[in-house]
Amino acid sequence: MKRYDYVLVGGGLFSAVFAYHAKKAGKSCLVVEKRNHLGGNIYCENIENINVHKYGAHIFHTSDKRVWDFVTSICEFNNFVNSPLANYKGEIYNLPFNMNTFNQMWGVTTADEAKAIIEEQKKEICGEPKNLEEQAISLVGRDIYEKLIKGYTEKQWGRDCAELPAFIIKRLPVRYTYDNNYFNDIYQGIPVGGYNVLIERLFDGCEVLLNTDYNQNREYFNSMGEKVLYTGTLDSLYDYKFGKLDYRSLKFETVVLKVEDYQGVAVVNYTEREVPYTRIIEHKHFEGAITDKTVITREYPADWQDGMEQYYPVNDDKNNQLFMKYKTEAEKESNMLFGGRLAEYKYYDMDKVIASALALCDKEF
Ligand code: FAD
Ligand code: UDP
Repeated sequence: MKRYDYVLVGGGLFSAVFAYHAKKAGKSCLVVEKRNHLGGNIYCENIENINVHKYGAHIFHTSDKRVWDFVTSICEFNNFVNSPLANYKGEIYNLPFNMNTFNQMWGVTTADEAKAIIEEQKKEICGEPKNLEEQAISLVGRDIYEKLIKGYTEKQWGRDCAELPAFIIKRLPVRYTYDNNYFNDIYQGIPVGGYNVLIERLFDGCEVLLNTDYNQNREYFNSMGEKVLYTGTLDSLYDYKFGKLDYRSLKFETVVLKVEDYQGVAVVNYTEREVPYTRIIEHKHFEGAITDKTVITREYPADWQDGMEQYYPVNDDKNNQLFMKYKTEAEKESNMLFGGRLAEYKYYDMDKVIASALALCDKEF
């Protein structure tokens, strides 16, 4: 008999959902987390009575009723709707691209007028768009591409738009209505009290080891549990024997300001190339905190290097092939389960992570 039914490697959202259902099924879990807190990238730090999204703005949105019913059964969500602004050299535009943006850009007031301008501007693209630049111009025309897309995207990805895949820009809605909701999903909000409330309730009843890297002591942790759920990177699990997977990283600069309100909205994107950060987050707006001061975070994209957090996988052919080699190794493991954004080398929104964890729980319990 081993001491725990499960050893959960990583204390992020995937593990948290698994832990909750394991406990419901009468199973015991040990969580091994290398950071000094639970929550992974959704962790919040309370600064000046404001829940600061420590690893970048996190807005919960989903159209999956099972996921929404699950999270709202754990904690209350507020009615936050993400309506970010773009700042291009001091000019302010609404996002995502909608009639407000078209009105601000060209002075048009009807969908037909906006469509006529975009139709005219996209004539320069012949055939199927071959890269992000062509895709963007054929969606919203060159003016918007130049002011709101090119600089932002090149900062974010560290590459020219003509060298990036078209699909990245398709994530953004383009609407011919006056609707500034950044997401198309049915449900949206932020946990009341911040994401830590959700995380603490999901992990309630688990034993937790913080500041502990599973990969430093694998045999020992394997001996502690009947099974291991691993949510870290696969290349590190196999000591990088086929090489390292690439990531994009981010640097966050957080400051407390002695003003009640800095920018009047949670997120402002800085879309010109010359400003080194991509966006400024003003955290109090996620939950309508009423405080004298405010906390803002400037987000700087960065090439990933050893020791930095791995934020965005670089899913190009080279890296996807490398990942498949590690995945084949992982499939040979008999007592290990895998899941989450690192182990799957995938850009995963929170709702998709939860759906995937729930699917694993359906099989396991
Ligand atoms: P993680 O949160 O990364 O958790 C994995 C945990 O495992 C980490 O805590 C890590 O330290 C730990 N770990 C790894 N290896 C080891 C090891 N060897 N030993 C011990 N511990 C280990 N999603 C949305 O839905 N809406 C948003 O607005 C949104 N914004 C985002 C903004 C940014 C900048 C980023 C990067 C992501 C955003 N996401 C958003 C995605 C969201 O963060 C993820 O879906 C979610 O956090 C993934 O949970 P996870 O458990 O898979 O991974
Ligand atoms: N994008 C842009 N300008 C913006 C916001 C987004 O050009 O003001 C593009 C950019 O290429 C980005 C993609 O749309 O990578 C997807 O945006 P999203 O907000 O989903 O993710 P991000 O990459 O900004 O985290």
